[in-house]
Amino acid sequence: MQCDQYSIINSHCKAIKHILIIEDSVSLGNHLKEMIDEYFSFRCDIATTEAQANEMIRRKRYDLIITDVYLPDSSGNFLGELVRNDLRLIVMTASDNDELRSSILTLPIIDYVLKSDAKTLVDYLVNTIQRLNSNRDTVIGICDDSKISRHLMAELVKSQNLPYIEFANGQEVYDFLVKKNCHMDVLVSDYEMPKMNGLELIRHLRHEYLTCELPIIAISSSDKPHLTVQFLKAGANDYIKKPFGNEELCTRLNLTLDQLYANRRNKALRIALEKAATHDFLTQLYNRNFFFTQIHHITADAIRQKKPYGILMIDIDHFKRINDTYGHHAGDTAIIHLASILKNTARTSDYCIRWGGEEFLILIPHVSTKELAQFAERLRTVVEKSPVCVVEEKLTFNITISIGGSVGLSENSQTMISQADALLYDAKNSGRNCVKI
Ligand code: GH3
Ligand code: MG
Ligand code: MG
Ligand code: MG
Repeated sequence: MQCDQYSIINSHCKAIKHILIIEDSVSLGNHLKEMIDEYFSFRCDIATTEAQANEMIRRKRYDLIITDVYLPDSSGNFLGELVRNDLRLIVMTASDNDELRSSILTLPIIDYVLKSDAKTLVDYLVNTIQRLNSNRDTVIGICDDSKISRHLMAELVKSQNLPYIEFANGQEVYDFLVKKNCHMDVLVSDYEMPKMNGLELIRHLRHEYLTCELPIIAISSSDKPHLTVQFLKAGANDYIKKPFGNEELCTRLNLTLDQLYANRRNKALRIALEKAATHDFLTQLYNRNFFFTQIHHITADAIRQKKPYGILMIDIDHFKRINDTYGHHAGDTAIIHLASILKNTARTSDYCIRWGGEEFLILIPHVSTKELAQFAERLRTVVEKSPVCVVEEKLTFNITISIGGSVGLSENSQTMISQADALLYDAKNSGRNCVKI
């Protein structure tokens, strides 16, 4: 789908690889560096004075500067100078002074962190650095009819290394996402806007996206009672009432992003776990566990449709000799090689399973005895003619397989497997490299 009417602004997004810590307490500076070294593979330098920091910045390009406010040779406008030189700053201070906080937060910095205990500080900084790097690929939709508000929001998301797209009303966002099927990761939307307001937009979008798929932060200056609750009930992940400070919006956005990334990590972990539970590690084919969770559906389908299914048991001939002659790694390569032939020769509707060691099972829905015999014979020939190559050892050798197969409509797959197994045994006794159906 064409999404080019709206361009993603991302020229400000950069990977963070080189960090400079400016901190006059040597122990704190070293501790931060140690922790950053432990979590990331970045280059991390330390300066203890402004003069030293200026010299280092003159010589090297840093993607991120984590700096203390008061240094022994403080000139008074050190932070302002750093910002003017387009450097990204996280400012840390031990002073919880409101005036200082307000004055520092007028600068376009990434964050302002209080030096509490070392563990809290380190955890916060490590999480922030991780987030800044993840943010590079996270597109924020900014929806507001006021150009000034959009601009202010854009400055804020830029400071967090986030790409963004601007929209002037809810209808534009709806068309972009739903009609044009374009993508964004998080939406920050105003309430009162022409064509479609923020609340209507969220109601429409929640028919399409779950709160974990597209987090939405709503913003409004409206004094309408119950508006907060209305937004949250409509599916906003967060609601912010104007006026608010940049720091508050930024912190809420960061919490939403942390949640989004945690959800994505959990989802990836769940997928990996499901894959590990149902697939064989060596060949990436399905494993026996998968077979037993799926077989009921397949036999039930076959019986309902009165269409027989087939089972092939396949075993490499004299595999022990391969291990003994060429070594275990060559044996593994032969198993992987056979698995890929099975996968490439079978249809996508067939299930190729590593049954154990050098034994495989193929489950074929909707097949006749003749078709199964033809397929098995084709497999046997392909394997016979495809040499196994062990690249690392510059070794090539051939393998053969024996196959036993059964076709039927039995509800009890174990009976079919036993039949196929008995025929495989027959094939072995008939001199191997042959098919018995
Ligand atoms: P047959 O023709 O009768 O099938 O003889 P065979 O030697 O292939 O069968 P047998 O069952 O005697 O030996 C199979 C061997 O496969 C024994 C076992 O050590 C080996 N094996 C099982 N799993 C693996 C594996 O994952 N990798 C390797 N390299 N060898 C394996
Ligand atoms: Mg408005
Ligand atoms: Mg064997
Ligand atoms: Mg065997």
